[in-house]
Amino acid sequence: MNQVRLGLVGIGKIARDQHLPAIASVATFDLAATASRAAQVDGIDAYPSIEAMLAARGDLDAVSLCTPPSGRVDQALAALRAGKHVMLEKPPAATVSEVALLDEVARDAGMTLFTTWHSREAAAVDTARDWLADKRIRALRIDWREDIRKWHPGQDWIMAAGGFGVFDPAINALSIATRILPHHLLVSAATLSVPANRVSPVAATVQMRCGDAPVEVNLDFLQTGPQRWDMEVDTDAGTLVLRDGGRTIALPGTPATTQPNEEYSRLYRRFADLIASGQSDVDVSPLQLVADAFLVAERKTVEPFDF
Ligand code: NAP
Repeated sequence: MNQVRLGLVGIGKIARDQHLPAIASVATFDLAATASRAAQVDGIDAYPSIEAMLAARGDLDAVSLCTPPSGRVDQALAALRAGKHVMLEKPPAATVSEVALLDEVARDAGMTLFTTWHSREAAAVDTARDWLADKRIRALRIDWREDIRKWHPGQDWIMAAGGFGVFDPAINALSIATRILPHHLLVSAATLSVPANRVSPVAATVQMRCGDAPVEVNLDFLQTGPQRWDMEVDTDAGTLVLRDGGRTIALPGTPATTQPNEEYSRLYRRFADLIASGQSDVDVSPLQLVADAFLVAERKTVEPFDF
């Protein structure tokens, strides 16, 4: 496969923690440039904005966006219109309509668009999907509880408009659920707990249905002590348990197994395959569920939140 010259945009936590090592591990990609207002990567051609990068580096083949979701649509449009393949961090954009527009523009331009959902690449997700395929689902419980101060220190954008609040991590759970369940999920009710000094929820509950089965979702961004990224699926053949964000699985009658995290190298290998085969992978379903929860939710104001 030809080398893909890549521009990486938004050099923040996830770019450094996951994208840079994953890009280095997938031979197809050559990290050729970065675009970030404040940050740079040692030894890599750096630009203060995606517009400056695209203007100077017409030789780039693809762009990977690691900025916050709000405003990402304009960066993606600029890249697609400049003839670059585009990979989007999750959530792919701030709204469902933005993703529809990007999909259309990518098709018209003949470029690959990849809306990534990294948690779907967690080690046990495929096993869970295969096991559930012929089961009758009776109930599903999702518990996604993490400490925003530990995992997202100082990231004010998460609690601002378009930042998703606790749904920034929780959309990972929904990306797994929409991958492993044999039926569509429908949101029926939600409560959002919004701090008095913020716009986005710091905790939430969501009730959904999967076929006839009830789905209960509990989300907390202020969890101290043990962190939880768990889901349990009751079926006619017993309960499947996924823990650690999809890395650990326990099927009925078998001990739990945990495997290493290769989520981001899997994403970049898939991006390379999509580019090579001239395809896109655009799935908005986890974002649609978050949008639906926001549509039907009751809101309550809770204690102010500061980092
Ligand atoms: P972050 O640390 O805040 O980094 C994002 C970077 O984007 C910033 O460093 C900033 O770099 C740039 N940026 C451009 N416009 C910005 C704006 N309006 N506000 C703030 N930063 C802006 O965020 P992150 O944790 O890496 O998250 C980025 C995306 O990755 C999000 O969609 C998130 O859901 C996803 N993600 C995060 C994690 C995680 O654990 N943190 C895990 C998986 C996925 P400059 O200032 O240099 O421009």
